[in-house]
Amino acid sequence: MASLKSDGIMIEKNSKKTIYVLVLILSVALLMPSEVEAKKGDPHLRLVNPKNKISSKFVPKKLVKIKNLSEYDSKYISRREEIRMEKTAAKQLLKMLKSANTKAGHKFYLYSGYRSYATQKQSCGGQNNAVRNSSGLVTVAAPGTSEHQTGLAIDITGLGNSKSYSYPKKGTPERWLLDNCHKYGFIYRYQGKYSGETGVANEPWHLRYIGVDDAKNLHKLDISFEKYIKNYDKYTTAKVIFKTNKGEFSKEKYSGKSSITKKIKLGKKLKSLPNVERTGFVFKGWYTKKAGGTKISNNTKINKKTILYARWEKEIVDVPEEIENRDINP
Ligand SMILES: [Zn+2]
Repeated sequence: MASLKSDGIMIEKNSKKTIYVLVLILSVALLMPSEVEAKKGDPHLRLVNPKNKISSKFVPKKLVKIKNLSEYDSKYISRREEIRMEKTAAKQLLKMLKSANTKAGHKFYLYSGYRSYATQKQSCGGQNNAVRNSSGLVTVAAPGTSEHQTGLAIDITGLGNSKSYSYPKKGTPERWLLDNCHKYGFIYRYQGKYSGETGVANEPWHLRYIGVDDAKNLHKLDISFEKYIKNYDKYTTAKVIFKTNKGEFSKEKYSGKSSITKKIKLGKKLKSLPNVERTGFVFKGWYTKKAGGTKISNNTKINKKTILYARWEKEIVDVPEEIENRDINP
C-alpha cells in the first residue's frame, strides 16, 4: 500500500507499532531531567547550583546520623542534636575528625549537614530566593540549589569558633581541614577565587564530599567544581605515549609510527602494552626514561601524563663453530 513520507520518516500504513515506539521514545526524552546528572553514575559527583537544581522531593538514599562526635572531642552546634549526612560522606567525615584530633589535637563544631528542601526554604525566610551579601554573592542558597540537600556538604569550624573568618590561619583546626580534607574526599567548594563561577561567597567552613580520588585530583588541579564536572573526562584521563625508540610496532595499523598515544582514566591500570620489535635487538620492556627510569607493567596505575620508551638490548648471535674456526687466510 501507499506510504506517507514526512520529514524523511516513512510512515507505513498500519504502523501503530512504530508510532507507539516513537511516542515511547519521546516520553522518555521528555522525562529526562535537564539538570547535569552525576557523572558516570556516581551520586557523590552531583553538581548542584542554580543551573543544576535539585528536586524539592530529593532525599539522599542513605542518610545517616553522625554519631559519637564526643570521641573526637567535637560537638554539634545545631539545635537539633542530629546532624545527618549521606552514609559514605558521614563515614569519611568521622575519619577526618579522628585524624585531626589524634594527629593535631583539633576539636570541631558541626553546624549543618543534610538540609531538606523545606529547611533550606526556611533559611531563606520562607522565600524561593537566595540570600545575598552586598556584593551580590550568595550567602544562603535558594531552595533547590543547596548542596546541603544532597547530604554531601558539612558546615564545620573549630570548637568554640563561629563561621566568620575569610581564610584560616596556620595551626588552626579550620586550616587543618582546608589543607587535609581532600585526603578524605572533601573539597573547599566555595573559595573566594571561584565566586565568579559559583556565584557564592567565600565559605571556608563549607566542605563538600566528592570521593577521595576526585577530591585529590581536584585539589591538585586547583579549579572550581563547576569546571571540573563540565570537563570531567578531560580532567580525569591522562595520556600515555609509547615511543618505539628506533623499533617498530608489531601491529600493522601502527606501522611506520614512532609513537602512539593511549588515553587512560587516572588511577587505572594500563592493562595492555603494545608489542614492538627491532631487527638485531631484544625488547626488554617499557621504561619511563630512554636510559634508566622505571620499568612499567600492565599492572602499573597511571596518575599523570606518562611517556614510555621501548628498551632494547643488542641481540647476541651465536656464531656457528665452523665459521669461527675457518682459516681466514688460507
Ligand atoms: Zn554549607
